[in-house]
Amino acid sequence: MNPKEMMSVLRNSYVSGKTRPLEYRIKQIRNLKRMYLENKELIIDALAADLHKCRHESIVMEIMFLINDLDNILANIEEWEKPEVPEKPLVNVLDKLYIFNDPYGVVLVIGAWNYPFQLLLMPVAGAIAAGNCVVLKPSEIAKNSAKVIAELIPKYLDTDCYKVYNGGVPETTALLKERFDYIFYTGSSGVGKIIQEAAAKHLTPVTLELGGKSPVYIDESVDMNIAVRRILWGKLANAGQTCVAPDYVLCTKDVEKKFVEISKGVLEQWYGTDASKSPDFGRIINDAHFRRIERFIKSGTIAVGGNTIASERYIEPTILIDVKPTDPVMMEEIFGPVLPIITIGNLHEAIRFINEGEKPLAMYIFSRKKLDVKVLINNTSCGGISVNDTIMHLTVDTLPFGGVGNSGMGQYHGKYTFDTFTHKKSCLYKNLGALGEKLGQARYPPYNERKTRFLNILLKRRSPISFDFIRYFVAFGLGAAAIYMYYNSRSFIRRT
Ligand code: NAD
Repeated sequence: MNPKEMMSVLRNSYVSGKTRPLEYRIKQIRNLKRMYLENKELIIDALAADLHKCRHESIVMEIMFLINDLDNILANIEEWEKPEVPEKPLVNVLDKLYIFNDPYGVVLVIGAWNYPFQLLLMPVAGAIAAGNCVVLKPSEIAKNSAKVIAELIPKYLDTDCYKVYNGGVPETTALLKERFDYIFYTGSSGVGKIIQEAAAKHLTPVTLELGGKSPVYIDESVDMNIAVRRILWGKLANAGQTCVAPDYVLCTKDVEKKFVEISKGVLEQWYGTDASKSPDFGRIINDAHFRRIERFIKSGTIAVGGNTIASERYIEPTILIDVKPTDPVMMEEIFGPVLPIITIGNLHEAIRFINEGEKPLAMYIFSRKKLDVKVLINNTSCGGISVNDTIMHLTVDTLPFGGVGNSGMGQYHGKYTFDTFTHKKSCLYKNLGALGEKLGQARYPPYNERKTRFLNILLKRRSPISFDFIRYFVAFGLGAAAIYMYYNSRSFIRRT
């Protein structure tokens, strides 16, 4: 089916109202969950074939992540979908106000290769929950995962409303010519610009989940054994091919020395003396990325690691020191298991360094000094932060996940995904009663001073009327009435 035919099927399904009932959406979400549970091994095998991803990471960072998200949707969808009732200004005291949670229509979700299931199917679940029809575009680079997705989705989801479209750049380019009601893209900042340009032709809103160089700041106050473990884990999961992986470290020369020493022991403990033999360490997705990352190892001095095996696309966990900000490893997002350390003199130099670059997707601060943490947070801009850890902020589904500036726009996870695929449709519901009409008379011509004054008073911005205020007001009124009646009855008794 070409993009045009596919869009025509989806458009008709959307217009028919098929995706609107809550029961329908819940059924699709349950089917998606069944898909993960019944095909766990197939998914694990595809991830192993594409990325040498180990079983543990496939289960924890892809399958469980997706299932937990679906459980959260199932637990909350009824609440999320309900029209919201906002507070009323005084002028609307006789009216009803609603915010309806409307689906956008037919949406496109484009996934990336590094977490090929999670990055595509998590936004898709939110789009389905919000009542949209969806085109799923897996990354062609993780080809085994893309094949599994194309095989499974039609078996579990309604094919009239959800369609997988596989292919590379020409196919995605053709797809982008169609008019979508929303586009959700995950991938590089370069392609993000192409997506936004294509979307602009139809004024289609977009979420762009992009990447960048996420810095780590460490000072001497931390327990270095803990800090090193948390940083290396974030860097080496999926062989460094994680959008929020720590990209580089900023620390003093003293901290660098300790960091390097402890890292050697930790890496041996995790992967043995030869990480290429470890079942827990991944491989680079393809030859082009392998060559790109291998080139970075020539920056600065190798303090740890540095070996590569081209035939396996293996790059040993590597730490680089004596790195200059102008070295190739610092000129683009690394997206591999290479960690350069840039030495700085103090916190303010770190802040300056971070602010001189593009806004990163994540920032990591390791420090016990609360004031320094606050200063760093307040004086830099990034998508999100973990303090004294890496990556973990994105596992909290009550925190929005997304970038800023060059690292993206928009956010998702938990309710934020549902909201991303939802248009907030405002509704003012007036009644046709005589009192409302009387109060509204002042807006009709012929205008005069009195009408202007009256409207000024009526429309003047006040705090919304809260229930507390009404409660106190009524209680005060009743109290005043009781006192009045009490004194009135006493004077009546005296008079008689
Ligand atoms: P990729 O090559 O898989 O591209 C992503 C998608 O864009 C694919 O579906 C691909 O088909 C499509 N695409 C590629 N070139 C295109 C073109 N010219 N026109 C239209 N579509 C095109 O992935 P990638 O870009 O290599 O991903 C790596 C980047 O993504 C890194 O920068 C990483 O940080 C970022 N990333 C961000 C997140 C996030 O959640 N913010 C997650 C993962 C990856």
